[in-house]
Amino acid sequence: DLSGKTAVITGSNSGIGLGIARELAMAGADVVLNSFTDRDEDHALAEEIANVAGVKARYIKADMSKGAECRKLIEEAGACDILVNNAGIQHVAPIDEFPEEKWDAIIAINLSSAFHTTAAALPLMRKAGWGRVVNIASAHGLTASPYKSAYIAAKHGIVGLTKTTALETAEEPITANAICPGYVLTPLVEAQIPDQMKAHDMDRDTVVREVMLARQPSKEFATVEQMGGTCAFLCTDAAAQITGTTISVDGGWTAL
Ligand code: NAD
Repeated sequence: DLSGKTAVITGSNSGIGLGIARELAMAGADVVLNSFTDRDEDHALAEEIANVAGVKARYIKADMSKGAECRKLIEEAGACDILVNNAGIQHVAPIDEFPEEKWDAIIAINLSSAFHTTAAALPLMRKAGWGRVVNIASAHGLTASPYKSAYIAAKHGIVGLTKTTALETAEEPITANAICPGYVLTPLVEAQIPDQMKAHDMDRDTVVREVMLARQPSKEFATVEQMGGTCAFLCTDAAAQITGTTISVDGGWTAL
């Protein structure tokens, strides 16, 4: 039961972040949603979660590519017992053609943001006497693929940051872990299916199985609900001695 705890989830107006926010709210936590936009529908998501789960929910705009805004997000949240660093973007290109500004943006959003939010949140966790840092890495935090240099460097980096955070909090009731998802069916991934079907001249099932899930032995997408459930588990007492490690939710990807 997470009632009385406040969870801040970066990049949570869609996909995995939103799934995690919903699951933590259903477990009783007050939640702070975030992205870089400030639209009515962003705030409406928070209102919907508050109504469905019966918790407090807020949406705070902050751009995770900027260190000062990362720190301000935690400050504005006021409390941060559970920090979920989830905001992330992708760009696919060979290293010698990789746009410099894409490299910088991916390192900032997918890696440095977690440094800034963690730095701002640890003092609040220490004051509260309890804390959970959950970083959303990737199977690409443990293995590589071509053409995703910035993403893979950032995801390997966040696994390292997770380990360091765990060691610096090891004697306190605070844990830090990384979830490493394989392919998760989010709106972002769903949107790629029609293009892949056209490019490979395959039907939906075949393109999902043979192209998109080529490296996921289960041949099934993981779900945002499963990411939320894994995150909620890391917040239980059963997980109190799980720290500084990675949990793969990847249908066997990293066993290959
Ligand atoms: P998504 O695009 O649905 O979600 C990304 C979230 O980050 C969105 O809410 C977006 O608004 C937010 N975001 C982007 N730039 C931001 C910025 N500058 N400031 C604040 N928020 C920003 O994608 P997703 O699939 O849900 O991805 C979420 C996380 O999970 C990412 O870190 C991603 O790398 C990781 N992941 C996804 C998969 C997958 O298959 N979908 C697999 C492994 C890891």
